[in-house]
Amino acid sequence: MQRLAASAIGKLVEFGADTGAVVDALAPLARQARHPQTQQYAIRALKKCGAAARLCVADLRDVARNPANRDYVRAAAATVADAIEQASADVEQGVKHRCQRCNVAVSQGEFERSSQAFQRIYCDRCFDEVFLQSSNCLDLRLALTNSAIGSWSTIKGDENGGR
Ligand SMILES: [Zn+2]
Repeated sequence: MQRLAASAIGKLVEFGADTGAVVDALAPLARQARHPQTQQYAIRALKKCGAAARLCVADLRDVARNPANRDYVRAAAATVADAIEQASADVEQGVKHRCQRCNVAVSQGEFERSSQAFQRIYCDRCFDEVFLQSSNCLDLRLALTNSAIGSWSTIKGDENGGR
């Protein structure tokens, strides 16, 4: 029940719910929950809140460090803490998009060019590489598979999805 609640709350972010309120609801569960799976759901859902969850980073680091927690909970906490930190840094630096291949910040021009050509977010350097390879189906498929691995651009996409 708690687990369902945690994932449902996470979903709310996608529908444009107030991320501050969502963070308030998730933070206690991310820190400690009756079931490790609930905790993992809450932690993962916090990632969707991006920079709004920056005050949770210290707690997530503690969760990741604590050997009493399940390995998958610790791993999720470490990954999400990194993700939230990067989202916060991006907000401070005004970075809106990141290359899904090499993770560098992508300018608006690069964003538009790669979105139009590939419906993906690439920096100019990766754009050229992917473009050269796109005549080869296998390489393009590889590039697209990479995009499925939770990349920063995807996270940013989730975060901005409710616009
Ligand atoms: Zn790149």
